[in-house]
Amino acid sequence: AAFATLGLAAPLVRALVKEGYERPTPIQLQSIPEALSGRDLLGCAQTGTGKTAAFVLPILQRLSKTQRHGGIRALVLTPTRELAAQIGERVTAYGRHLGLRHTVIYGGVGQRPQEENLAKGPDLLVATPGRLLDLMQQGFVRLDRVEVFVLDEADRMLDMGFIHDVRRVVAALPKQKQTLFFSATMPREIAALADNILVDPARVSV
Ligand code: AMP
Repeated sequence: AAFATLGLAAPLVRALVKEGYERPTPIQLQSIPEALSGRDLLGCAQTGTGKTAAFVLPILQRLSKTQRHGGIRALVLTPTRELAAQIGERVTAYGRHLGLRHTVIYGGVGQRPQEENLAKGPDLLVATPGRLLDLMQQGFVRLDRVEVFVLDEADRMLDMGFIHDVRRVVAALPKQKQTLFFSATMPREIAALADNILVDPARVSV
């Protein structure tokens, strides 16, 4: 199967050719058509399976088809600085022909450059929970116009003690949105969180 048959637009397919990707991975095959349809998604997948592209590609396609408004239209929440940086780097690669803006924020580094990047009006924000909440509380980030929300590595959020922070971020999002929820495992607390956030999700597991 080819990427184009999943419903991905030409500029995204061209970017994937440039990356040297020949065919979608199983998680991409299952997730991309569902995510493109606008449905919520519950994905069970580990790092290394290609799950980043499984959520980044549908988000980019959606953002390229809807109007920019200077506010954040998509939020990817991920537990660690390394994951945030990697996702940001994948967004750059897959979005090279789209002209969308994105920025990455995480803790452990100075906040000022992140404030400046947020002021430029990114379409897509990749963030770790603690720094995101800090910047929200200080008024540098608003999430009230987010159309798509990705929760990445939900089980690790729990392990790292971030689950309350995640709930606070979710509470700041509009009710009406598409949510893509990924976790390698589904402990009871994570299943309950998914149940709480997702509306009639497509379930995908690799
Ligand atoms: P991830 O699981 O998202 O961290 O991706 C793992 C690695 O696989 C990354 O280096 C991606 O660039 C790469 N990758 C993702 N999708 C594909 C694909 N369809 N074909 C080849 N490599 C891929």
